[in-house]
This record gives sequence, structure tokens and C-alpha cells, in this order.
Amino acid sequence: MMEKSFLEEKRKDIEYNLDKINEKIENAAIKSGRKREDINFMAVTKTVDPVYINFALDYGIDLIGENRVQELIRKKDELHLDGVEKHLIGHLQTNKAGQIVGVADMIQSVDSVKIAKEIARQSIKKGISTDVLLEINIGGEENKTGFSVSEFYENIHEISEIEGINVKGLMTVPPICEKNTILCKFFENIYNIYVDINDKKLDNINMQILSMGMSGDYEEAILCGSNLVRIGSAIFGPRTY
Ligand SMILES: *Cc1c(COP(=O)(O)O)cnc(C)c1O
Repeated sequence: MMEKSFLEEKRKDIEYNLDKINEKIENAAIKSGRKREDINFMAVTKTVDPVYINFALDYGIDLIGENRVQELIRKKDELHLDGVEKHLIGHLQTNKAGQIVGVADMIQSVDSVKIAKEIARQSIKKGISTDVLLEINIGGEENKTGFSVSEFYENIHEISEIEGINVKGLMTVPPICEKNTILCKFFENIYNIYVDINDKKLDNINMQILSMGMSGDYEEAILCGSNLVRIGSAIFGPRTY
């Protein structure tokens, strides 16, 4: 058992961090000509103990994200999840799709036509349709998942025809950048794709969510058009794996 006073300190830290982040989200939203309510705020809970995640949920966080299917399934029964959405934000292997469909409210990390089809197949089997985002590797980095921009355009028509999924927008993790101007270039590039695809009015593709911005760059991301930021370490502290 962890000591009660230690836990109370930890709760206060998390609440303090959430207050700060909310303030910064609001300022960035206003600067970008929007309102606080226009921006969704996800707490990224990978590696975080359920006790701490519950502190964030008790505070009022209503959206959490996990990277791994197994970790989400293992933790979810311990969490105060009434009215809280759970999203998968990490790479999904085909053989795990059956376990996560019907559990996650959204899968943000759809990074191939193959996985889109498998999520769809599993959804139809369960009599549901699954909300997804398409993940774009906007920096074209070798070691990262996501569609490259050219793959994305090559495959978007095929994806629009898949029954069993609803494409709700895009997600990205940009390269680590030393300069904000370069970072903003990546954010702007994906924002332009988001607008472009929306204008094409494809069946079954509704660009409502642009998921970008993490602990180190969420204010810039909002300024560049993000409406969903995914924040982990700025809430819970550095991760220990
Ligand atoms: C871990 C992770 C985050 C959160 O990262 P922080 O820098 O801790 O805020 C956001 N998005 C994805 C896809 C992640 O894997």
C-alpha cells in the first residue's frame, strides 16, 4: 500500500498540472480564434498506475488514450470510467483487432489499409461500426508508423469504401524539432491535408478531428489547427517503463 499522505500529494500535483494545461489550452484556443470547448484534451495514460489515472478522471478528464491493447484491457476495470471515452493511440497489430473493437471508443492509430479492413471486419462481426482516425507520418520518418502523405492519398478512396469503420479525422506525431518554425510546418502540412480531404466530400470520411500536440508542443499544435491534444507526461510526470 502506498502511504495516504504520499497519494494526496500526488493527487494535488496532478490537479495542479491539469489546471495549468487547461489554462494554456484555453489561451492557445483563443489565440487561434476558437474557444476552450473547441479543443478536446486527452490524458495519455500509458505506463501510468490506475490510482493516478483516477485522480485525473475525478478532476474531470473525460478522454483517455492508451497505446497498447493489453494495457487498456488490463487497467480499464480499475478506472472511474463513467462517461469517459477510451481511445487506442498506438500501433495495432492485425491479430489484436478483435480484442479492441467494441472496447475502445475510437482507434486513432489506423496506419494501413490492412488494419482498417480488419477493424471493419471485426466491427461487422460484433454488429457495430468503429470510429477511427487515420495516422499520418507527416515527417516521413523511417522508424515511425502511419501513412506517408503519398500513401495516404493513394489509399484514401479505397478506405472510404470500407464498411464497418467511420473515418473521423487524422492523427499525427511529428518529428522532434529543434525549431518551432519547422514543427509548425509539419502541423500546417497536416492541417492542409485535413482541409483538402474534407473538401473532397468522400463517402464515409468526415474530417472532424485533428489529433495532434503532446506535452512538449500542444500549444503550437492548437495554433496550427489541432482540436484534440494528447498529453501524458505533463500531467503524470515522466514515464517509467
Ligand atoms: C505517449 C504518447 C503521447 C503523449 O506523450 P507526452 O509527451 O507524454 O505528452 C501522445 N500521443 C501518442 C501517440 C503517444 O504515444
